[in-house]
Amino acid sequence: MDKIVNPKRTRARASEPAPAQPVRPASREEAEEAVRTLIRWAGDDPDREGLLGTPARVVRAYEEWFSGYKDDPREYLKRTFEETGGYDEVVVLRDIRFESHCEHHMAPIIGRVHIGYLPRNRVVGISKLARLVEVYARRLQIQEKMTAEIASCLDSVLKPHGVAVVTEATHQCMTTRGVHKTGVTMVTSRMIGVFRDRAETRQEFLTAIGMRGAVGGVNGA
Ligand SMILES: [Zn+2]
Repeated sequence: MDKIVNPKRTRARASEPAPAQPVRPASREEAEEAVRTLIRWAGDDPDREGLLGTPARVVRAYEEWFSGYKDDPREYLKRTFEETGGYDEVVVLRDIRFESHCEHHMAPIIGRVHIGYLPRNRVVGISKLARLVEVYARRLQIQEKMTAEIASCLDSVLKPHGVAVVTEATHQCMTTRGVHKTGVTMVTSRMIGVFRDRAETRQEFLTAIGMRGAVGGVNGA
């Protein structure tokens, strides 16, 4: 950092939102204690025999469900793309199952992601795309944001002619509480480049994933 304070710069900064403070990670003991608190809040006794091991198990489950914070998908994809070898047709990977958690209730979001892209010079293997979805899913999410993050990550690393991502999911915060709407699937999409600009390319993708004209073009950006 520059030690000389520029008053103009300081004022400009004062009007900007304060940078996010780095979050202090919680210790395993703190996380387990929080689970004990929630058990008491639910009305049960965390010291009864059946619940003694529960805080440790919940925290281990959280390690798995929220393991996506440790990875940067951009760095990961940058290391793993391959040259296309002249392939210039749309690549579609459909029905990538994911489990995520909504950031409003921390309740499960379970669904499938379909990804399409029209490569320019670079492609990635199927397992890499599935891994990309997993990294974003294993964070606290809202479906719209996850859909957009997957699309923009692929777009920025592969620099293809276009990217299409459609996510279909059920939100257990809707099906098991609140409005109790079972059987409702939420569909979100993000269309970039040729998938946004060219109806035929978008249609080719939607047909490939079995969604003839159902989405696309409206909420793409
Ligand atoms: Zn929710």
